[in-house]
Amino acid sequence: MEIKTGQDYINSLKGRNLKVYLFGELVEEPTENPIIKPSINAVAETYDLAIREEELATAQSSISGKNVNRFLHIAESADDLVLQNKMQRKMGQNTGTCFQRCVGMDALNALHSVTMEIDQKYATNYHNRLLNFIKMIQTENLVIGGAMTDPKGDRSKTPSEQEDPDLFVHVTEKREDGVIITGSKAHQTGCINSHWIIVMPTVRLTNNDKDYAIVGAIPVDASGITYIYGRQSCDTRSAEGGDIDPGNTKFAGQEAIIVFDNVFIPWDKIFMYGEYEFASMLIERFTCYHRRSYVCKTGLGDVLIGASAAVADYNGLSKTSHIKDKLVEMTHLNESIYAAGIASSYQAQKMKSGVWLNDDMLAQVCKHNVTRFPYEISRLAQDIAGGLVVTMPSEKDFKNHEIGPILKKYLVGRKGINVEDRMRVLRLIENMTLGRNAVGYLTESMHGAGSPQAQRIQIARQMQLGYKKKLAKILAGIEINDKIDEDKYSDYFKRVFKVPTNKKL
Ligand SMILES: Cc1cc2nc3c(=O)[nH]c(=O)nc-3n(C[C@H](O)[C@H](O)[C@H](O)COP(=O)(O)OP(=O)(O)OC[C@H]3O[C@@H](n4cnc5c(N)ncnc54)[C@H](O)[C@@H]3O)c2cc1C
Repeated sequence: MEIKTGQDYINSLKGRNLKVYLFGELVEEPTENPIIKPSINAVAETYDLAIREEELATAQSSISGKNVNRFLHIAESADDLVLQNKMQRKMGQNTGTCFQRCVGMDALNALHSVTMEIDQKYATNYHNRLLNFIKMIQTENLVIGGAMTDPKGDRSKTPSEQEDPDLFVHVTEKREDGVIITGSKAHQTGCINSHWIIVMPTVRLTNNDKDYAIVGAIPVDASGITYIYGRQSCDTRSAEGGDIDPGNTKFAGQEAIIVFDNVFIPWDKIFMYGEYEFASMLIERFTCYHRRSYVCKTGLGDVLIGASAAVADYNGLSKTSHIKDKLVEMTHLNESIYAAGIASSYQAQKMKSGVWLNDDMLAQVCKHNVTRFPYEISRLAQDIAGGLVVTMPSEKDFKNHEIGPILKKYLVGRKGINVEDRMRVLRLIENMTLGRNAVGYLTESMHGAGSPQAQRIQIARQMQLGYKKKLAKILAGIEINDKIDEDKYSDYFKRVFKVPTNKKL
């Protein structure tokens, strides 16, 4: 049955009998767990947004012929990619956290073109299988988790060189009806809140790694899967019963380690097996989409800028010049992230399979800025907030009949401001820069979609130093053959100088 509202979505997660561990114990029903619930609410908001803002958060799919949630849509134009970014910013603003659906969306879009290219080389049938899978998830309106990152063990070794073969997900048995996989995926965003997980390789593979070249879709409640929930800073505040100390009571992100112990994938849900040389193409296209998806953090940045402006106002400093200047700086950094991401989407090109892929260089720049600017924005937020952001007594102290009034007397801001409002906004800043949602705003910004060095490698590959040296030498009057080889730089010229066509399929 098709899921429509956020509440339908929450209901769809109930009674699945997942094996989820949190604090060393099995969780009976994740949807009822106070630490897990805020992460489910964040995904539920992606359903409710699609109802409230249809143009922004839904799209007409030529695969299912339906108007589908944009998180399940295959980009049929550059405009679709631009609208993904706008929706991501809106979702960041609405939740102040990671809403967990970009990784699945980006995996599906990357697989659309890669499966077709594998089929063209090997006469396989992966693309049709993928289209059937997409049609099903669009029709039922499901959540897809993208599982790329393996635990990786010794990072200097390939999967097949590891002492323990399970440090990367791999096929342990090939059967008539499908394959069996074993291994683990680390840091998996929203996996317990998903309906399906797509496993994908995380590193470039060699001829010896064929069993690691596996891409397949697995139901979250498949037999043999264990989830071990990731702790987040200050997560137990969500279980304390109050609604001030958590900082953001309603919304949070979710990560877990997934352990696959002999998990079956039928052939019709397998989209790569053994074609090891396509692993790097998949990783590059997935990260191209995903690094631009990090414009979601500008939505969180908007919230943090707003919280900083509010606390300055509560403190009687809204007109102070250095505060205003800091808010300008925060905004400048935030919009710089957005600029690169959205430009990357506008500069998209159509792939052979018909899907549109955003500009890679600008996606790298977007994500690289994300590894840095949210830290600076957070520093400025803490500067504006003052020390109370980390020294404030608890909600229970404020509610204590003896010390509560004392705290309210001494923690007052400017005249007419409710002390509790001041406390709430300080807790929100703490939440986003040190607490639960700092996971999404800061460390996920650092490592999600690849650590900073991964972007620098991609930027280095595309920076065209040969061409740029030639430009400099020509203007400096250095004697060289001043003809620029048009063929050699044709992709670069197309990227930089041609107006993108942006036509629908
Ligand atoms: C909050 C969060 C959510 C995430 N969500 C998802 C998700 O939904 N799906 C998913 O698949 N992944 C997810 N990730 C994983 C993310 O992609 C990885 O964290 C990232 O790729 C870095 O891998 P790592 O954490 O294993 O760090 P490491 O690989 O251990 O990196 C640590 C440092 O070592 C360096 N390094 C690593 N290997 C090498 C090498 N061979 N040579 C030189 N330097 C090296 C890195 O550049 C980095 O500086 C998430 C991560 C976070 C933090």
